[in-house]
Amino acid sequence: MDRSKVKCPHCNWSPPEGPHWNCLECGSDMDHFSNVGRCESCGYNHEKTYCPEEMGGCGQSSAHIDWYGDFEEGLSKIDIFSR
Ligand SMILES: [Zn+2]
Ligand SMILES: [Zn+2]
Repeated sequence: MDRSKVKCPHCNWSPPEGPHWNCLECGSDMDHFSNVGRCESCGYNHEKTYCPEEMGGCGQSSAHIDWYGDFEEGLSKIDIFSR
């Protein structure tokens, strides 16, 4: 996936690669954009992703899919979004 097009719908902050988030379920460090919001440790699916202020973002939470903007059509092929 082309991460340069992934951005916060509030402030347009673009997430660099890396575990900048914590899983809400198991607390492990994770990258929300490496596996479409799914934690690789426990499998928890994050429907919302916050914009990390410590990384230069705005601190607001948005629906994970909103971060992809015009990617939405391609993502509908991924099964977690087709329910
Ligand atoms: Zn987890
Ligand atoms: Zn933001």
